[in-house]
Amino acid sequence: MRQIRGIPASPGIAIGQAWLYRPERVTVEQQRVSDPEVEWLRLQAAVNVVRNRLQALYEKALASVGEEEAEIFLAHQEFLTDQELMRGIRETIFTQKLNAEYAVKAEFDTYAAALAELDDPYLRARAQDLEDVSMQVIRSLQGQESDGSGLLTRPSVIIAEDLTPSDTIQFDKDKILGICIAKGGPTSHTAILARSLGVPAVVSAGFDIEDIERGVLTVVDGDEGTMIMGPALAVLESARQKQAAWQKARSEQLTSAHQPAVTLDGHRVEVAANIGGVDDARKAIEMGAEGVGLFRTEFLYLDRTELLDIEEQVAIYQGVVKVMDGRPLVVRTLDIGGDKSVPYLGLAEEPNPFLGWRGIRMVRERPDILANQFEALLRAGVGGDIRIMLPMVSGPGEVKRAKEILDETVASLKAQGVSMPEKLQFGIMIEVPSAALLAHHLAPLVDFFSIGTNDLTQYTLAVDRTNERVTNLASPYNPAVLQLIARTIEAAHAHGKWVGMCGELAGDVLAVPVLLGMGLDEFSMAASSIPSVKEEIRRWSMARAKEVAQEVLGMAGSTEVLEYLKGLTPS
Ligand code: PEP
Ligand code: MG
Repeated sequence: MRQIRGIPASPGIAIGQAWLYRPERVTVEQQRVSDPEVEWLRLQAAVNVVRNRLQALYEKALASVGEEEAEIFLAHQEFLTDQELMRGIRETIFTQKLNAEYAVKAEFDTYAAALAELDDPYLRARAQDLEDVSMQVIRSLQGQESDGSGLLTRPSVIIAEDLTPSDTIQFDKDKILGICIAKGGPTSHTAILARSLGVPAVVSAGFDIEDIERGVLTVVDGDEGTMIMGPALAVLESARQKQAAWQKARSEQLTSAHQPAVTLDGHRVEVAANIGGVDDARKAIEMGAEGVGLFRTEFLYLDRTELLDIEEQVAIYQGVVKVMDGRPLVVRTLDIGGDKSVPYLGLAEEPNPFLGWRGIRMVRERPDILANQFEALLRAGVGGDIRIMLPMVSGPGEVKRAKEILDETVASLKAQGVSMPEKLQFGIMIEVPSAALLAHHLAPLVDFFSIGTNDLTQYTLAVDRTNERVTNLASPYNPAVLQLIARTIEAAHAHGKWVGMCGELAGDVLAVPVLLGMGLDEFSMAASSIPSVKEEIRRWSMARAKEVAQEVLGMAGSTEVLEYLKGLTPS
């Protein structure tokens, strides 16, 4: 028996035979060619084959996992029509008289290296996509049409050194029991696809695929982030029990996911979802979301080369408003900066980007961006319950300035006779400690708060949320963070305003009694967490939750809080 530890990427337990995915290695040699014209024709034929295959993959993904996940294959096709890339390849073939395989590799590698240097994880991931596409073209040039993924003929656990999105989508999805890969991170496309397929997955497991025995019975635990090969009988038995319990719990939770979240003593809270686009909105409703508590609009801007214009924004927001069908929709204005960089916005390289030009701070230099976004939201929000929310607020000045811009936009649209939403709320995120401490000054300026515990934790505890060396210090259960949350809720309620939470803490079942007890009105989270959080809310009474909240606020550290919460039984 051998156990390997990685990072959990998609929850659940898979048990099955290991199927090793080892695409044949592609080697490319530099060769002189006598007839560049022939070489160029050979390349075009290979590009055509790959383009057709990518189109087929796009259609397959569209039918099996949805539009958002399928779009990656359209993006891959775009590389093959990129004028600059193709010009570079042509030049290598014609001026240096070199073979097509070498020209493709050289040109794609240069492009990918430039992207891989960037700080932005999203753009770095695009470098992997480029490599994926270039390998497909080279394979096609070398006459290797298959990478072996078609040989997955019976349900198995897929084990690979790494998987690209096109690898993952090519497998027959009914045959994927679970996935474990040596490389990658929990936000890689493979992890995203695994989550949308609903299969347990572990990434960053760091094994050497040569050491893994083909066909060995394997357990992938997507909650713990482990893979066990050749489990002892007792281990296998306990994995089977855990799997059965997980499947049962999931189907039970799903049956009641569309019921409201009401405590034992009759207090109802709203459970909403965090989304990045229209597909997420659809999934959220399926999982029982009663609204959207955070629409991260900046995600729409990350894979582009220029700002979205008002019409493009209106179309996207209208799509989401339609799916929400009158349910509350909190749309956050652009939260660019920090770890989300948008090259075309002219962001300077900053030594401390999380403490720099981020979120609402852009209002001073680029009020036009905010005004355009407000206009698009006002136009798109007709018939919906739209709530506009500002990110990264640190004090009242920014809120007043943004409100002025909103009022001006409303007035100008009214003057043009444009119809506008009947209901419109204006709120802010509380994710900077100064905003939490000044919450009683901010509450009169807005309709609601939403607490962003991801940033509130990093700023309160001075831990960079992207630095793995200090993640052990970054706990939202630290009583310093909890005290700021409690203070924020109190200040809002004192002014008759509602408070939500859209940081990751809201989707953690362990935090449920604490947040209920503090009086949180709305919990917003990844759609997949909704059923379990709703179920947990129904197990507590407000009276007991208030005692729990009081207790943790008096504690000295996160370890003490966590131990206490883990030892509680609901009532
Ligand atoms: C947060 O900071 O908690 C939050 C929800 O915003 P983001 O994770 O997008 O920074
Ligand atoms: Mg944040």
